[in-house]
Amino acid sequence: MHSHNIDTNGFYGAFGGAYVPEILYKTVEDLRREYLGIIQSEDFQREFHLLLRDYVGRPSPLYYARRMSQRYGCRLYLKREDLNHTGAHKINNAIGQILLAQRMGKRRIIAETGAGQHGVATATVCALMNMPCRIYMGATDVARQHTNVERMKMLGAEVFPVESGNKTLKDATNEAIRDWCCHPADTFYIIGSTVGPHPYPDLVARLQSVISEEIKEQLLEHEGRDYPDYLIACVGGGSNAAGTIFHYLDDERVRIVLGEAGGHGIESGETAATIHCGTTGIIHGARTLVMQTPDGQITEPYSISAGLDYPGIGPLHAHLAQSGRANVLAINDDEALQAAYELTRLEGIIPALESAHALAILPKLSFRSDDVVVLTVSGRGDKDLSTYLSHLPQS
Ligand SMILES: *Cc1c(COP(=O)(O)O)cnc(C)c1O
Repeated sequence: MHSHNIDTNGFYGAFGGAYVPEILYKTVEDLRREYLGIIQSEDFQREFHLLLRDYVGRPSPLYYARRMSQRYGCRLYLKREDLNHTGAHKINNAIGQILLAQRMGKRRIIAETGAGQHGVATATVCALMNMPCRIYMGATDVARQHTNVERMKMLGAEVFPVESGNKTLKDATNEAIRDWCCHPADTFYIIGSTVGPHPYPDLVARLQSVISEEIKEQLLEHEGRDYPDYLIACVGGGSNAAGTIFHYLDDERVRIVLGEAGGHGIESGETAATIHCGTTGIIHGARTLVMQTPDGQITEPYSISAGLDYPGIGPLHAHLAQSGRANVLAINDDEALQAAYELTRLEGIIPALESAHALAILPKLSFRSDDVVVLTVSGRGDKDLSTYLSHLPQS
């Protein structure tokens, strides 16, 4: 058991737990009782790993980035989650949860989505498994993420626009929880990040931990040792970061540096930097850091990157930041944009805007020339092209 990991009550230090309405108690409790046994079973592991290999395209490469290494004076490896089917790490988790849903006898899938990336991953696995799928999405997001809505519809999902509140992610989440309360027995709620009530954060972290499992093997092959000096990832809710660090949490030789979305700056009021600006509260069924007013109203987050535009943070990451195990930096929009152009021009890889927040950490650290750095490129940038083109660099 990791000392930085979850305790038997579903807490990481002061954060976590399961704060759900009474009517969901049994559903969440069933999941808590069954998830470890199922996902650790031979049958589950066999099907999960076969799909990760043949459907997702894993293992994702660990690529030695020569020109970026020269630029930053270290040995930089990129973990290429951008090469996965559907273009990001989210598919790893969606496959794992739908296999779990099937084994728990659930017949219907629901999910919420902000930018649409988790909605697309969920609609994809529902098509694969022939299960009915309803995706809740704020009406504002439906309008601004139109191509992802079209993808979900083509995949056969029903996209339900949510008209309450600000019509964004947290309103979609409230609506998904409302649906779950009405159909607790037959419906499985696929949550897309290391958030939500226990056991979701731990479930998602374990499903994504295939990332660090592969890093260990691949580093051994490239470097003759199975650990890096630094691990770097971006954090929205925290799932790609959790997957990247999972098998290294207790290895103090490995420094963990995470990038959250600073937006226009942590003092600007337009930010999604929850570690820097949040206070303890309850969101989506867990106690964690939350961006909120002094009287507990959740404040609307802002980031140029839709996937990081979230007013909470996974309880694991809140704990790692509080304990000092992870160093969390706030990366502003302009820094992320510059980092995305740099990777594109030096390595020919257009990263997702989310991943660019991890890349923008590099100029903020000082490395020794033999430092081995592994940075997870969580997704590809095709979905962000219009944003990139409307922010062309000066040079
Ligand atoms: C959704 C998303 C993220 C943020 O989610 P995490 O759970 O923090 O990983 C990061 N990168 C990409 C490409 C995404 O789609």
